[in-house]
Amino acid sequence: MFGIGTNTKRARTVEASDARVQLVGLHKSFGAVRAVDGIDLEVHDGEILALLGPSGCGKTTTLRLVAGFDRPDAGRVVLAGDEVAAPGRFVPAERRRIGVVFQDFALFPHLSVAGNVGYGVRERQQRAARVAELLELVGLTGSEQRMPHELSGGQQQRVALARALAPRPALVLLDEPFSNLDAALRVHVRAEVRSILHAANATAIFVTHDQEEALSLADRIAVMNRGRVLQTDAPSELYANPVDRFVATFVGDADLLPGSVDHGNAVLTSVGPLRAATIAGASASGGATGDVDVVLRPELVRLRLDGDGQGVVREIVYFGHDQLIEVGLDDGSRVRSRMGPGRWFEPGDRVSVAVTGNVIAFPRTSNGNE
Ligand code: ATP
Repeated sequence: MFGIGTNTKRARTVEASDARVQLVGLHKSFGAVRAVDGIDLEVHDGEILALLGPSGCGKTTTLRLVAGFDRPDAGRVVLAGDEVAAPGRFVPAERRRIGVVFQDFALFPHLSVAGNVGYGVRERQQRAARVAELLELVGLTGSEQRMPHELSGGQQQRVALARALAPRPALVLLDEPFSNLDAALRVHVRAEVRSILHAANATAIFVTHDQEEALSLADRIAVMNRGRVLQTDAPSELYANPVDRFVATFVGDADLLPGSVDHGNAVLTSVGPLRAATIAGASASGGATGDVDVVLRPELVRLRLDGDGQGVVREIVYFGHDQLIEVGLDDGSRVRSRMGPGRWFEPGDRVSVAVTGNVIAFPRTSNGNE
């Protein structure tokens, strides 16, 4: 499928899996830096997967290993059941049937929109029809003869996506695809990109350090840190059930509040006893005891003006549709509350803090990622 030869000595086709992409034990170092440190990951047919993590965590390196721009030191890359990188085996990028959307879009400046989109379509007779089909998909019918410099950033983005999709790739890779667009456009374009990829039934991996982008665009998110994947899950699952403190605080806003568990799943904290939905690492039989950190999402925290409250309002960040109110607790910790747009508090107000719903807690000793 990817120009693989007929050598039967070494297995080329991997055991059946419904995954379009499989990364198995992938490693890549640059000198002493372990950029990718043992990644196992699957991407399913028609799925949009985000690689999300802080700067330098190895997202781009992972993408480059999948694309075939770099060779792994160890591990395997399997595309649609065929090994494209493995010990002693390396299928070059141009034979992997992968479409790439680069950060700066990298359109050919001397080619028209139609020329850009049709560039990778080998069959001459089908080119015009395929270009028309793709331009319709990305909403640019009628722009065939325009040149890249005559397009807005959002339009360039759509041409880049159409160009990547035109040769019917097995996989589309997008490297920080929205970083060149201004904030207002980004929200609109990312919804558009999501629907275009799904309409084309494309399988895609995109790289981002922006959690909001990952949460809103991806079907599943792989959270990375220090060359490893810490958790791969649907956005809502990742948000509700992070596996550790790093994921909890990197994906969505969260504060960590110290507490202790005495019986089962009640956690004693400076804002009172809280019910814990999950205490990570607690055995089913014995429950957990000891010191924990409670993950508090701002939308679970409610504040009330109260001269006997547990803390003082420090800062209010107003967003229009809502606001984030930061409270310094008397024990030195911080909690934030997300509330509607009304004006209820001023910095300096003493407030009591209530938590609605169940929280998640991590034992103090279980933290291996920070
Ligand atoms: P960013 O979001 O900043 O782009 P990233 O998560 O994509 O970061 P990578 O670009 O994959 O991270 O880099 C991972 C680590 O590998 C970093 O420490 C980086 O400095 C290092 N690295 C990446 N490419 C090279 C290279 N060609 N030579 C040396 N070191 C490199």
